[in-house]
Amino acid sequence: MASEVVDATAPKPRGGRFCTVCNERRAALKRPKTLDQICKECFYAVFEDEIHRVIVDNHLFKPGERIAIGASGGKDSTVLAYVLSELNIRHGYGLDLFLLSIDEGITGYRDDSLETVKRNEIQYGLPLKVVSYKELYGWTMDEIVKLIGLKNNCTFCGVFRRQALDRGAALLKVDKLVTGHNADDIAETVLLNILRGDIARLSRCTSITTGEDGPIPRCKPFKYTYEKEILRSWALNLLFTYAYFKRLDYFSTECIYSPNAYRGFAREFIKDLERIRPRAILDIIKSGEDFRISTSTKMPEQGNCERCGYISSQKWCKACVLLEGLNRGLPKLGIGRTRGLNNERNKDMKETNGTKALQSKQCGTLDF
Ligand code: SF4
Repeated sequence: MASEVVDATAPKPRGGRFCTVCNERRAALKRPKTLDQICKECFYAVFEDEIHRVIVDNHLFKPGERIAIGASGGKDSTVLAYVLSELNIRHGYGLDLFLLSIDEGITGYRDDSLETVKRNEIQYGLPLKVVSYKELYGWTMDEIVKLIGLKNNCTFCGVFRRQALDRGAALLKVDKLVTGHNADDIAETVLLNILRGDIARLSRCTSITTGEDGPIPRCKPFKYTYEKEILRSWALNLLFTYAYFKRLDYFSTECIYSPNAYRGFAREFIKDLERIRPRAILDIIKSGEDFRISTSTKMPEQGNCERCGYISSQKWCKACVLLEGLNRGLPKLGIGRTRGLNNERNKDMKETNGTKALQSKQCGTLDF
């Protein structure tokens, strides 16, 4: 970002509070982490510098690495693509950046948001790769929803997206994949994993880099970046604010299959906490980071899916189980807890209506 030079001799603008950073321009928003009143120009500088510090302090990248940016066309990934390409040039990271999008096949949602990503490809000069559910799995989300309805659609979508991102990253031959998950997303996931008692996910969901033992590690440079910012007297989204001020081109419509998700309750709860105590988001992340699993706790052993070779703690990975259900006309096959599901696959096939439906529907974009 090109910083504006402040003329210290110029008369200060009348009315409103002054920016606590430059003390010259009028404050445009209040940062939730620090409660500092800050002007637009200093906001850009602080925002980008914080991301740079997170990248440097956590050794997220090495010079010469090929990095795929998971790009949905939404505000988080759009801002991530913009900031990362800016920082890469400004600080000489020496990275080869790519945009990687997943086309779930959701008419009226993903087709529109992909148009935004295609514009981002031109605006930021970053090569784009799109992989689709149809080409990878033979199904679009439109077809899946037609078959299963709106009950467990996000379970299919989330599982398929996770693999699709890895497969797209492998096609791009990248060293790492970065996603736009922000501090709010991570705090929500900590809370959800506590509520579900999912200690395996709880132990890794706060890591800034995951999958280091796998083929393509994933990083979250926005781990400490708040979603919300307060602009004057009303709350706006921090990334929205950044995207808004910077006039970044992003897509803001909700998925047409977005459920009244369990995650939504966690999100609301966190927003309530944030209203009372803005640091609550960072505190929840810290709680997740400090979480330790007793050495006597048996954790699932990671292996590879016998069918597709993808990483899995079961004989078949979750995507293959879900796909088997779809292809055999038994879409409830893989819904619910997977423990024992592989062993009891035949039983489940007979009792497709008896499987426990996973109530924790959530957008797979956030499933990490
Ligand atoms: Fe997929 Fe997210 Fe839409 Fe659910 S809300 S169907 S996970 S894009």
